[in-house]
Amino acid sequence: MHNDIALFSELCDELFKEETNQPVAKPIPTSELYNQIDLSLNQNGVMDDVFKDTLKKVIKSTPKTASKSFFNQLFGGRIGKATLGDLLAVMLNNSMYTYKVAGPQVGIEKQVLKNICELAGYSKDSDGTLAPGGSMSNMMALIMARDFKNETIRAEGLSKPMTLYTSEASHYSIAKNAALTGIGKNQVRLVNTNSKGEMLSKHLEELILQDISNGLQPFFVNATAGTTVLGAFDDIKAISKVCKTHNLWLHVDGAYCGGVIFSKTYKHLIHGLELSDSFSVNAHKMLGTPLSCSIIVTQHKDQLHHSFSNEADYLYQTDGDDFNLGKTSLQCGRRNDALKLWTLWKSVGTNGLEKIVDKQFEMAQIARDYINKHKDYTLYSFDNSISVCFNYKGISANELCTALYENSELMVGFGTFNNNEFIRMVTINSLLDKNDILNFFETLETFVLTHSLKVSTT
Ligand SMILES: *Cc1c(COP(=O)(O)O)cnc(C)c1O
Repeated sequence: MHNDIALFSELCDELFKEETNQPVAKPIPTSELYNQIDLSLNQNGVMDDVFKDTLKKVIKSTPKTASKSFFNQLFGGRIGKATLGDLLAVMLNNSMYTYKVAGPQVGIEKQVLKNICELAGYSKDSDGTLAPGGSMSNMMALIMARDFKNETIRAEGLSKPMTLYTSEASHYSIAKNAALTGIGKNQVRLVNTNSKGEMLSKHLEELILQDISNGLQPFFVNATAGTTVLGAFDDIKAISKVCKTHNLWLHVDGAYCGGVIFSKTYKHLIHGLELSDSFSVNAHKMLGTPLSCSIIVTQHKDQLHHSFSNEADYLYQTDGDDFNLGKTSLQCGRRNDALKLWTLWKSVGTNGLEKIVDKQFEMAQIARDYINKHKDYTLYSFDNSISVCFNYKGISANELCTALYENSELMVGFGTFNNNEFIRMVTINSLLDKNDILNFFETLETFVLTHSLKVSTT
């Protein structure tokens, strides 16, 4: 094992070198992948030096999400104290289902959940768990809401169509989860948004009333704190009012930007969160921990238990249910995803997490200021969002992003809203500074100057 730790350390040095020297790895076409790197698995193992050499090749060609040129997705960067926690979780290798096999690790998860509940403004009866990602957190919310409406469904299955509501700008996992849970994709009502991508609560109520008059059973509303494309925040307070009137479960999907609970400056964006029934947040997005660290909390502790516990005498042999976390989990064996957030939180404090969140908004403002000052750019996103959406010189966003990637210049993605296609630059890496943001634009402009690209027709 000690040899492997030494090798690991050597490989990390290699990775750090690559991140600096070649921040956007040269992409390998899929048709070439197995020719360029020997990924084969064979009857006999390989010699140590071949093994090491192969790993270095894999590292060299793997996209560098912690580099200063990565703006592609809703995660990025590497915060040492969080990575340390995740490495420790691998070394300790506990499973979170019982206190007997996880010991203080259980206390760590419970502490993280307790503090998140407090920051969300949730009551003392709140609890939560960690799921393998925001999509699964949303699924847990959906299941709790389904069972909350009708407790016989767990045993008998659905007997009558149930309908749920989410905005047209929300994450695709809502519809996918409707399919997975037997609710059905066709029972998902897409609520219209305003020009900023925020759900229209008036339209929400219209859709609910229509379903009720058709004899259907509305049960669940998903509001989003940070929509995937524009980073918009739904008006939780207004939506909650509709939910209370019709007795519907309100979930707030904060996978992307729920981290604003840590910020005194930006907490107003989730005004009314304390009125929701459940809330999810991905620490691997705004809080900068490694993938994945997805938290789901609810004000209905009993419902979490009712929906997810199954008796298993072979497993739960000691300690109270409160410390046997398998009783409230989607999974059986489960790695400790809370530890990486805990090590970060412990070391920098709540104030440190606030700085991490605020920095991302600051960097986004710098990017928007730059775009607004330069007339070759068109801005499509809004204030208070860390998704900066824009076009440059009317060039096709798809084509420009692809060319930047294929030429190892920048990793950035594109999106669409209201029939506009644009580049979506995400300033989620809190380790970046103003110069890195300005460098992004300079790289893009120099690239366009030296390459011929099609002007978009949209
Ligand atoms: C990223 C995201 C999800 C999905 O989270 P995963 O961890 O990728 O499964 C859900 N909702 C929103 C709003 C997101 O941005």
